[in-house]
Amino acid sequence: MTSAAHEADVIVVGAGPAGSTTAAHLAQHGLKVTLLEKAHFPREKVCGDGLTPRATRQLIRLGIDTSEEAGWLHNRGLRVYAGRKEPFHFDWPDLKDFPNYGLVRPRADFDHLLAQHAVSLGAQLLEGTNVTGPILDERSGRIVGVTTKAGEEYRAPLVVAADGNSARLAISMGINKRDDRPMGVAVRTYYKTPRSKDDYLESWLELWDGEPGKSTLMPGYGWVFGMGDGTSNIGLGVLNTSKGFGKTDYRALLKRWLDATPEEWGFRDENRTCPVQGAALPMGFNRQPHYGRGLLLVGDAGGMVSPFNGEGIAYAMEAAEYAAEAIADAHARGIGTSSAERALQGYPARLRAELGGFYRMGNIFVHLIGNPTIMRLCTQYGLPRPTLMRLVMKLLANLRDAHEGDWMDHLINALAKAAPSA
Ligand SMILES: Cc1cc2nc3c(=O)[nH]c(=O)nc-3n(C[C@H](O)[C@H](O)[C@H](O)COP(=O)(O)OP(=O)(O)OC[C@H]3O[C@@H](n4cnc5c(N)ncnc54)[C@H](O)[C@@H]3O)c2cc1C
Repeated sequence: MTSAAHEADVIVVGAGPAGSTTAAHLAQHGLKVTLLEKAHFPREKVCGDGLTPRATRQLIRLGIDTSEEAGWLHNRGLRVYAGRKEPFHFDWPDLKDFPNYGLVRPRADFDHLLAQHAVSLGAQLLEGTNVTGPILDERSGRIVGVTTKAGEEYRAPLVVAADGNSARLAISMGINKRDDRPMGVAVRTYYKTPRSKDDYLESWLELWDGEPGKSTLMPGYGWVFGMGDGTSNIGLGVLNTSKGFGKTDYRALLKRWLDATPEEWGFRDENRTCPVQGAALPMGFNRQPHYGRGLLLVGDAGGMVSPFNGEGIAYAMEAAEYAAEAIADAHARGIGTSSAERALQGYPARLRAELGGFYRMGNIFVHLIGNPTIMRLCTQYGLPRPTLMRLVMKLLANLRDAHEGDWMDHLINALAKAAPSA
């Protein structure tokens, strides 16, 4: 290949939900986009495989068929276990801004589908292409391309870092993690179970670091997401605001929780179909700036997991759409001009406007529930109150109408607006 063949309008590094969605929107804007992915599809990604209506909305906006006939498992809400035998059920709210169903799909399949969608819209996808670092313009210090492990160079005036939690590209540009933002750790595995077909996403709010009821309640939750294929994705996530963070044995925590569930559900070692694997959850915009010197951060690379519920896919896809719009705008104004630069600065400004206040509230929330007494009070006294819980669910899943919603939507909108941006 000649170096000319390696030139594009935009290079996107990483073809997870953030990268493929950015590439798809950029291609729709008519830009020449090259999507570089180190793995080969289908590839696994450690995840819960669960999508709320917020993520469903992003798929619909991409024009992806989310019907059951197209292979998606639909869910209608959350089933919550907290300190008593019978669970609570909360259906997803009926809103103008969001569909009223969530989805489940294994990430190997989901990410492949998104990458193929980007290709169908005109993006060039190069698999097995491991990006090793930026190519910098000596004079301005701007990124003008990337190098790969195979020794190739890919050049473009704008680069999107969508390489996930490793954030290798951002780090190599000197953009480091902020330690004043929350971080989570989550582990997951799969079990064969008769509960595999489930039209609710299930969460367990009581994770004890020792004997149930007598030890410390961890800030986090466990989940059981039926995959519909005879297995369930089961895992747990814990926040770094707990005293025991860093010392916690997550596998033991998972086992202790599951051992206390009914035998007939099958959540026992002999039914586990793969090892317990884990990864970090970078939250609350823990890596910034989201734009600078020709580089945009999208998804986990920019710390965009919600501190409220550990959801990262919806926000990665949402940010991807904003990033693509800012890039398309900059192209229309003429890359290299000060006006284009202002359009690109519109990306972090939009992130702050849309999500900054919400994440700021999330950062406060994780510090509150890091206190086991508060966590206990919330699960014991909050959950049995249906109106309060409807409000809490709208808050945690960030599902509310921006305009003309009910009083709960107005309240959360007002709080998010009042909170300074994260
Ligand atoms: C255990 C666990 C459970 C979770 N459960 C959920 C859930 O149920 N729902 C939810 O919404 N979120 C969940 N999350 C969070 C979610 O997985 C992430 O927020 C989401 O994957 C972020 O997408 P992304 O595209 O930014 O990053 P990734 O999905 O990590 O994609 C990054 C891509 O970049 C590629 N890449 C990395 N480095 C390079 C390189 N140097 N060169 C080229 N390519 C590279 C990777 O191979 C990968 O394909 C969970 C996370 C964990 C750890």
